[in-house]
Formats: sequence, C-alpha cells, structure tokens
Amino acid sequence: ETITKLNELDRKHYLHPTSSLKQHQESGPKRIFTEGKGIYLTDVNGNQYIDALASLWNVNIGHGRKELGEAASQQMGKLAYSSSFNNLSHETVIQLSEKLASMTPGDLNVFFYTSGGSESNDTAFKLVRHYWKMKGQPEKKKIIGLERAYHGITMGATSATGIPQFHNMTTSISPDFLHAAAHKTNCELGDKSDPDYFRSIRGIIEKESPETIAAIIVEPIQGAGGVIISPDGYLEAVRKLCDQYGILMIADEVICGFGRTGKMFGVDNWNVVPDIMCMAKGITSGYIPLGAVAMTERLRDNLAAVSNDVLFHGFTYSGHPTACAVALKNIEILERENLADNSRQMGPELLKGLKFLEDKHTIVTKSRVKGLLGAFELFEDREQGIPFNPEKMAAPKLVEECLSRGLIVRAVTFGGTNIIALSPPLIITKEEIEKITLILSEAIQAVKNNLKF
Ligand code: PLP
Repeated sequence: ETITKLNELDRKHYLHPTSSLKQHQESGPKRIFTEGKGIYLTDVNGNQYIDALASLWNVNIGHGRKELGEAASQQMGKLAYSSSFNNLSHETVIQLSEKLASMTPGDLNVFFYTSGGSESNDTAFKLVRHYWKMKGQPEKKKIIGLERAYHGITMGATSATGIPQFHNMTTSISPDFLHAAAHKTNCELGDKSDPDYFRSIRGIIEKESPETIAAIIVEPIQGAGGVIISPDGYLEAVRKLCDQYGILMIADEVICGFGRTGKMFGVDNWNVVPDIMCMAKGITSGYIPLGAVAMTERLRDNLAAVSNDVLFHGFTYSGHPTACAVALKNIEILERENLADNSRQMGPELLKGLKFLEDKHTIVTKSRVKGLLGAFELFEDREQGIPFNPEKMAAPKLVEECLSRGLIVRAVTFGGTNIIALSPPLIITKEEIEKITLILSEAIQAVKNNLKF
C-alpha cells in the first residue's frame, strides 16, 4: 500500500528531469529505488538491478561507499559551508585544487568550481568570451559545438548541444553558437574535397572568419549522443586547427573524466591537451553535486584588465567545502583501487560481450567500447544498413526488457538511431560483465519475438 502511495505522490508532485510526461501521467515512475551497493540498485519491491549505466554515467566508484558519507559528515561537522567570494578561501578547496592539478593533463593547473556539468560548460563559454574581450577582441565570441554533442541544459550548454530535441525547450538558442558536423578528421586537416567541408569546424571557421570564433567544444567521446568515439587523429586535428587559428579548445570531460574511458581523462587517450576542460559527474561519483572547470595559468592570467579587475562570475556553491571533501575521498578511492586501470582492462571484456551479442543476434551491430564506455546498435537489416522504423521503438523496447530482467541500460534514439549505451561502475568484474551480456541477450531475444524477427 505504501508503494502505491509513493507512486501516486510521485505522479502528483514530482516533475521528472528528461522524462516522458505522457508515460509519467499514465503510470507514474517506472521504478522507485531505495538502496545502492556496488553495481546494484534495489527498488521498493526488493528487486535488484545491475546499474550498467552507473546511473547517469557518473557513479564511477559504485554505490554505497560509506567512506564518502563519512568524509561529508566530517566536513559538515567542521565547516559545512563557506564562501570563496571576495578572495576568501578554505582548506578543502585548496587541497582539491592541488590534487586536480596533479591529475589533469599538461598545464591545466587552475580550477573554478560549479555544481555540475552544465554550469561548468556555461562557465567555460563565459570565460573564453571574457578572455578574448580582455585581449581586445570582443568580437571573438562564437562557440562551435558538434552535431549530436550533449553539453547540458542551462542556456549556453543547451545552445552548444547538437541534439535538436534539447533545443525544443527554448524558443531560440543563444546567439553565436554554431554546430559543425562531427569527426570530419580529413576536413579538419585541410582536405577541401569532402562535400561536407563547409559543415566541418575548419570550413565554418573559414566561412565565419577566425576573428569571430572564441572556442570549440568537443566531448572526447560523445555520450548522450550515443557513445560516439572520436576517431584516432580527430582530437589532434582539432587541437592543431585551434593552434593554427588562435581559437581556444574546450574538452567536455563531464562523462569521460575520472577513469571512464580507461584513462583518467578522455583526452589522455589521444595525448591532447585542451585549453579548458569541463568536469562534473565522476569527480564525486555522483555522491554530491560538484563540477569543475580546469584552465591554464596563462588563460587565468589574461582574464583581468586594469580597468576591469573583478571576475563577475561565481556560484553560491562554487568550491562548496562538503562537495570538495567528497571529491577528495572519491579521487582517493579511484586511485587506491586503480579504477582507471580496471576500466581499461575490463573494456575488452565488455567488447567481447557485445561481439557475442552480434554473433547471436542479427539485429545487433556497430559494437564499440573505450574503457567502460560502450554501445551497440539495433538495425532491421545490418548487412544492408537498414534501420528499424522509429515507430517500432526497438531500442526503448530493449531498455524495458532489460529493466524487467534487472538490468539498467540507456537507449539513444535521436535522429532515428537505436543505440544502447553502457557505462557501468568502474569497479565491475569480468563475471559481472558476463552477467550483463546474458541478460542483454535474453532481452534482445524478447524484442526480436515482439518485432516478429
Ligand atoms: N556534458 C556532458 C558530456 C554530459 O554528458 C552532461 C550530462 O549528462 C553534461 C555536460 C551536463 O551535466 P549536468 O547534467 O551535470 O549539468
């Protein structure tokens, strides 16, 4: 009875983020979770689920780590909150900044804090515009993002996002945000023979003039767009292009950061050092909201001009002591348990599982994995490359079949795709990956039966 009550109250009082309004109105929340332990979640009915998405690609160290609660409790008991405005500071944010500086690539040594990924990206956009303004180039303000990119839901982050569905919530995206076709390595290297040349980053820069472009933002691996891995040479080409034209490179590491891709940061897979790196999610494994923006000292040093000294940008919760304490403990665990290494070592096991699914089911194709970020796709005819009619809801059906079998995965259906994304906690074992594979296989069989395959 209490469960029915919870369901009713959810339906009446809770507007869910990024959710189907119709489905919620009709049947309320799909599951109500009460507990998490390791890779598992438990719902109010006592059913267990493997959280193969690490909830929202963020619970990197797994659920139920008491140490993080203890770190939060200790910090709250000592100094729960303190502001960093007007050059006040506190010990924990200093310690976290020093720690992050030792982890981030190249000369990214200065950190600004937010409460999440969207705020980090919006901060980056304002910083780069301000940077060019302080250097006497106020017209250098356009931001180029990629098609299918996801950067969040605040105004700037939505505007940089390249998934049209996210633009629906706003009557117009912000001015001076442009979108380029993703992963056009040849174009970015200067090959004009490609018919898409003027949709590439390089083509757009040439069309708009480099004096108007402040920055380019890229995810090392596109997450919400469907786990689309940058081809080798791509990020290097973007870096070179930025250097050639004097444009700042922003890496959105909100999903890729903190071990997800088998290295501490996504760009480390290609040895590329951006000018700005945006982080969130894995920085606390989701235990408490926190985001960060890493930048070079050179960039920071150019943010001020004599006549315009104060940085008019700061959130009440920038550098929140409790969030910083949780981040420090989370990073300690990531390092102590070598979770980036485990991510790298388990990647091939995950890929093996997905290849098994391809062998067994003709509708499965395009498996890809980097660390513990992976995906596969469902096609009506994979040999001919014929996608499922979107009305068949192939990927959403598979997600439901998985859920009813105790497995949480994500469907990506933008632009008529049927992608299934996987991003399990980085503590996962080979045996647990095999378990995921077997559940997926059963669920795929059920979808095939449903679609009369
Ligand atoms: N950037 C990327 C790559 C993301 O995946 C997300 C969230 O999924 C965001 C930014 C936005 O982060 P948040 O939801 O914490 O605002």
